[in-house]
Amino acid sequence: MNVMSLFASDLAIDLGTANTCVFAQGRGIVLNEPSIVAFNTAKGTVEAVGAEAHEMLGRTPPNIRAVRPLRDGVIADFDAAETMLIHFVKKAMGSAPWRRPRLVIGVPSEITQVERRAVRDSGFRVKASEVHLVDEPMAAAIGAGLPITDAAGNMVIDIGGGTTDIAVISMAGTVYGRSLRVAGDAMDEAIILYMRKTFNLHIGERTAQQIKFEIGSATPLDEPLEMLVKGRHVVEGVPRTVTIGDGDVRAALTEPLRHIVQAVRESLERIPPELSSDIYDRGVVLTGGGALLRNLDKRLREETGLPVLVAENPLTSVVMGAGMMLSDMALLRRVSAN
Ligand code: ADP
Ligand code: MG
Repeated sequence: MNVMSLFASDLAIDLGTANTCVFAQGRGIVLNEPSIVAFNTAKGTVEAVGAEAHEMLGRTPPNIRAVRPLRDGVIADFDAAETMLIHFVKKAMGSAPWRRPRLVIGVPSEITQVERRAVRDSGFRVKASEVHLVDEPMAAAIGAGLPITDAAGNMVIDIGGGTTDIAVISMAGTVYGRSLRVAGDAMDEAIILYMRKTFNLHIGERTAQQIKFEIGSATPLDEPLEMLVKGRHVVEGVPRTVTIGDGDVRAALTEPLRHIVQAVRESLERIPPELSSDIYDRGVVLTGGGALLRNLDKRLREETGLPVLVAENPLTSVVMGAGMMLSDMALLRRVSAN
């Protein structure tokens, strides 16, 4: 271990709707947990945060309420968001709790001034010496290695839990940005709806997500995939198991995928022609967990004619980009949103 890393405790944080990641300067990614807080409503206390709270989803007794503070790409629950941020910062600080870290926090591009203020205040409440907010799509582009300071259009599509963010960046500025509330969560909801309509099977969010991970795809697969799904029969109320194939999941995902493709097409139409021709030359980078859906890159390539690439580590592009800003003050000053 290098001596500096004992002292460097500056943190970059990706406050995602689905997952929160923390990068510590000199140590790399130190935390990656679901963005969930479980409250005990009877005692008025916090029962669990992150991975531990995720385990409780769908299994909570009446006095425990599991909350996703950033559910739709906005801060849906301020108290829960602050509780989560403070908990994760303390956890990431670990053995050096006396330090006053600089924080770079990636926030959803659409949050309001009031919400930005709330996030900054939470940062100072954990004794940060500085708090810088950056737009998640900008951080994602930097983390994915796009040459964002070039005088040319770079497009990033970040598909998270709550939102799909499409951004065109040139000379370190966002020239065009659009946030669509259709992403991973909408895919899960579409799977729940499909299972109910097609098989009379009631499944929960966690099962829906499992289905998406294991056999989900955006275009037909070379090797068909199948999966056993357990749920509850809607009418009879008893446990039931059905076998579904990758075609079922594609059918379920028709609408959310159509919305995403449509939004990308519209974005290309709305930006100046010079920029869109840059993008046709340079291609588009996909980040966020949604980029891991099988063949989503292929689907976008087929439907838009763009070269499409999935970032190397799509789930950590934002936090890595924010982390790079910790050691590049000039860049941070250029792109920070405060
Ligand atoms: P956020 O930035 O909103 O926290 P993430 O970038 O962490 O979101 O991505 C989380 C989303 O990605 C979730 O909806 C999750 O279900 C989805 N996801 C993660 N892995 C995969 C995968 N292999 N296939 C499809 N979707 C995935
Ligand atoms: Mg994200």
